[in-house]
Amino acid sequence: MSAPDKPCIFCDLINGAGEVSMCYEDSSAIAFMDIQPVNLGHVLVVPREHFESMSDIPPELAMHLFDVALRLSPVVRRLHGADDMNLVVNSGPAAGQNVFHYHVHLIPRKAGDGFDIPLPFPGSEMPDRTLLDAMAVRMIAELRDPVRQQIARRLTVMSA
Ligand code: 5GP
Ligand code: ZN
Repeated sequence: MSAPDKPCIFCDLINGAGEVSMCYEDSSAIAFMDIQPVNLGHVLVVPREHFESMSDIPPELAMHLFDVALRLSPVVRRLHGADDMNLVVNSGPAAGQNVFHYHVHLIPRKAGDGFDIPLPFPGSEMPDRTLLDAMAVRMIAELRDPVRQQIARRLTVMSA
């Protein structure tokens, strides 16, 4: 069982040490209403066990959290009259993560609500096709090479 090395607000909530409005639970996941929602109905799907980010959560558990989010999505949409939905994971400080207990945001959206995940990124410079092709080939090579994948996984664990 992973334990946080610093105080963790989501572990506290899971352990009953704070007020939480829970809307779903099972043996490995819970979901509760975000305290500062983009729109009413904004839900966080959270593993019971403490994992910090995408680099340390077991893939099966990450898949389960997405599955829960997909099941909750039509309910949130219906209850809150949402036009559309965002499913978001912020993994790591540079990616905007603020609470370092892995979680999936399920965000109901309404036209003109003012929230934005601006993609395509306005500051982006479109790379040359040859560069995009080269990146794709490098990725294919990495995915095909189990040794390189093992090394990459070890490096990720060591740097965590
Ligand atoms: P992050 O930026 O880490 O992806 O998102 C953290 C989310 O957790 C934010 O949307 C924030 O409103 C929510 N949050 C932070 N503290 C609490 C809390 O004590 N209770 C609940 N329900 N949500 C919280
Ligand atoms: Zn935690």
